[in-house]
Amino acid sequence: MSILEIKNLHATVETPEGTKEILKGVDLTIKGGETHAIMGPNGSGKSTLAYAIAGHPKYEITGGEVLLDGEDVLEMSVDERARAGLFLAMQYPVEVPGVTVSNFLRTAKTAIDGEAPSLRTWVKDVKGAMDDLKMDPVFAERNVNEGFSGGEKKRHEILQMQLLKPSIAVLDETDSGLDVDALRVVSEGVNRAKENTEVGIMLITHYTRILQYVKPDFVHVFVNGKIAEQGGPELAERLEAEGYDRFLVGA
Ligand code: ADP
Ligand code: MG
Ligand code: MG
Repeated sequence: MSILEIKNLHATVETPEGTKEILKGVDLTIKGGETHAIMGPNGSGKSTLAYAIAGHPKYEITGGEVLLDGEDVLEMSVDERARAGLFLAMQYPVEVPGVTVSNFLRTAKTAIDGEAPSLRTWVKDVKGAMDDLKMDPVFAERNVNEGFSGGEKKRHEILQMQLLKPSIAVLDETDSGLDVDALRVVSEGVNRAKENTEVGIMLITHYTRILQYVKPDFVHVFVNGKIAEQGGPELAERLEAEGYDRFLVGA
């Protein structure tokens, strides 16, 4: 079982107005098998937290630590992070022109496992996962994220997660832009990963809607660059009823 430890994490970004601190001391521990919902208002820094963990060059880490099973994630290259078992699904996934979904997945799987998967099991696994996610087989031959609808992007993320079997997955607004049917399919994919593996999940979301389908063990309210409050699933219900107003006073 893996453990991701984020300790007093600080990060800045360069803006036209100068250096801006976005993460202001984030503390969070996620163990394998746990689902943590990170909820908060727009602009509070949730995506920045995901990018910081992913190693996005735009965000400078100015303090704190990120450890995966005791290893210093911040010292790892982006590839090393993936090989260590981290999976990051971004709010705005990038297009990869000229690379098909099928090739992308196989290359990623090979890089992460250190060897190519056997072709027979791989083809079967991809087909099974795509069936699970109600994806048309022709999707595998499309270029990554090129012209994907919102729902297709999110399904593609969950397809990756299902096939790459990470130990810790960060899902940034996987629910945004999904209709109810797509939300259910995507949520079922997350739940399958939870059932079949010991994955620990950081589920970043702006709305409580997805939490009807993916049950969190812990809910963290993220405001102004750090966690303002944590609790169990009942905290999500309270946020649904009350919104974030009471956290924004003085923030
Ligand atoms: P959230 O995901 O919670 O909506 P973000 O992490 O996207 O919040 O953004 C937090 C704050 O940091 C916002 O004020 C946003 O404008 C700013 N920010 C994030 N990334 C950048 C960037 N690359 N350049 C300038 N400002 C940024
Ligand atoms: Mg946002
Ligand atoms: Mg965001």
